[in-house]
Amino acid sequence: MNTKIDVLIPEEDIRKRISEMAAELSEKYKGEEVLLVGILTGSVFFLAELAQKMTIPVEIDFMAASSYGSGTESSGRVLITKDLARSIEGDHVIIVEDIVDTGQTLHLLTEMLIERNPASLELAVLLNKPSRRKVCLDADYVGFDIPDAFVVGWGLDYDQKYRDLPYIGVIKE
Ligand code: 5GP
Repeated sequence: MNTKIDVLIPEEDIRKRISEMAAELSEKYKGEEVLLVGILTGSVFFLAELAQKMTIPVEIDFMAASSYGSGTESSGRVLITKDLARSIEGDHVIIVEDIVDTGQTLHLLTEMLIERNPASLELAVLLNKPSRRKVCLDADYVGFDIPDAFVVGWGLDYDQKYRDLPYIGVIKE
């Protein structure tokens, strides 16, 4: 198979936009510490770049989840396959994710983390596909709105490959 990948968002645009997001977050949480919660595995590149560009103290933890829909939007469930290492009670928490598609996974994860009584909970995503949304979910910080195409790079995979691409691309076969 000869796989060709078209560049949708070039590396320099991504790094510039993440710097802007980091500046916005650093200003909003000035004087506070925040806990960045990355959702494995796709968030790792975005989270690393965001954390390094932020100018306030951050802690980092990760969760992994699989979501199970049963055909109706409201009955989806999420299975936590790796949980946080500690309590988030009283913490300023920012969930960091690669992409919001239907929104189901992040909707359920957000509800789950709210029950753990953080001081605040916000959501930062690198990519957003608004046209695909099935549940009501608005990220607080969005890098780029993209069309309904299957993208890879910056943590996003196709069959576990291409996560390391430094740009966002669309696979053409
Ligand atoms: P949601 O619950 O929002 O439908 O699921 C989001 C998850 O679906 C993302 O974390 C990601 O793993 C996967 N996903 C959604 N759209 C894409 C895409 O365009 N490319 C890749 N590689 N994964 C995607």
